[in-house]
Amino acid sequence: MLRPISFLFLLSFLIHSCSVEPTPQFDLLLTNVRIIDVIENSTSAPMKVGINGDTIAMVADMDSNLVTTAKVQVDGKGQYLMPGLWDMHVHFRGGDTMITENKALLKMFLNHGVTTVRDAGGDITTAILEWKKEIAMGNLEGPDIFTSGPKLDGERPAWPGSLRVTSPEEVSAALDSLERLGVDYVKIYDGSLQEDIYYEIIKQAESRNLKVTGHMPMSADLIKAYNLGLDGIEHLYYVLGVSSPSGDSIRRLSNGYGSLPALIDSFDPETAQQAFETLVKKEFYATPTMHIGKVLKDLRTRDHSQDSLLSQMGDHIRKTYARRESGAKSRSDEQQEYTEKRFQLFKELIQPMHAAGITLLAGSDCGAYNSYVYPGASLQEELMLLTQAGLSPAESLATSIINGPQFFGLQTEYGTIQEGKKAHMLLLQKNPLEDIGNIKSIEKVIKGQKIHPLKSSENGTKEKG
Ligand SMILES: [Zn+2]
Repeated sequence: MLRPISFLFLLSFLIHSCSVEPTPQFDLLLTNVRIIDVIENSTSAPMKVGINGDTIAMVADMDSNLVTTAKVQVDGKGQYLMPGLWDMHVHFRGGDTMITENKALLKMFLNHGVTTVRDAGGDITTAILEWKKEIAMGNLEGPDIFTSGPKLDGERPAWPGSLRVTSPEEVSAALDSLERLGVDYVKIYDGSLQEDIYYEIIKQAESRNLKVTGHMPMSADLIKAYNLGLDGIEHLYYVLGVSSPSGDSIRRLSNGYGSLPALIDSFDPETAQQAFETLVKKEFYATPTMHIGKVLKDLRTRDHSQDSLLSQMGDHIRKTYARRESGAKSRSDEQQEYTEKRFQLFKELIQPMHAAGITLLAGSDCGAYNSYVYPGASLQEELMLLTQAGLSPAESLATSIINGPQFFGLQTEYGTIQEGKKAHMLLLQKNPLEDIGNIKSIEKVIKGQKIHPLKSSENGTKEKG
């Protein structure tokens, strides 16, 4: 029999414990969400997903008995949950006067579901590295940033801010400075880069264990660069030299991009296939940047003045559009025909490259100077173009959310909605595996415990005109 003193003690304990609110288990809890898995090409039954800090802490069936309490709860009934998008080719640039306008682009990426970007080189590296740090600490809202810092180019660099390299010693000094900056990879540009220095950059980057990708002098041999340790190419021009039986002799004429028409005319699918099969002996990445190719192709006749996102671009950035616009407007019919032919051929290369095992990366090339390629929305367009080129919606999404992290060796932290992975996620109204266009049906963008509700005015992706 219980003695009175023990009974009172027990009673007071029970009363006391009932009056204390239990600490919520999660910062954020999503319920009733169907999870998209692009590796399995599957959509789950309704699930509940708990998030703590920046990490997915629980993924469970809706009918599981797990007690779930959270500071914030979102009912995702009828909605789809997938990892946030990666845009693997963006530019923050335009000099110090455009730093504020570049910073304003960060929100555009988030509003369109892009939670990570790979900056492919510019002239405001110090600002980018500062944003990167602030975003990582949660003091600034924007996508996570990986950056190459300044590009490496030759005697007369095409872009301001690039590092000029004309000798092995200068290559070594340039890579020292990039390592001091703490950049994430090396980006090569070919404004005036000598072929031997191009190979030298790759050799030295390889010996320092730095990832290296970018443009290539058209006179150079892609297979040789690959064997020296080149990790990838940005844009598809550089596979054409190894996709033509007369590629070697055309290359040796050293006409720069002037050799493209001859390479396109002599393109041979079997030669290309052999090259692609060589390029997969070790991991190799290609960023096709199809959407900007399409925008520039159509720029000769298309009026962008009514684009819904144009007003979100800063005045200075908009002014930089004039350069590519006047170039496009002055194209002859013959040049236009060639531009269309080139776009079509690049589109036809996507499926064979993917089938051979080359790792494709979704990249938009958005940024100042690259006219009417809007941050975030352009990545969605890129994913749509990749499906038009023959990839399934799941394969297209993988070029962003699987292959993006893989480039940086981070595949165990991203890519799927699983416990322990980064809580960078999109809640969509419609299933993107059924129609890639559904990637635009964004309900919420979740980055850690921060939820980005969208104002409809900020999510316009329609390009009118
Ligand atoms: Zn670029």
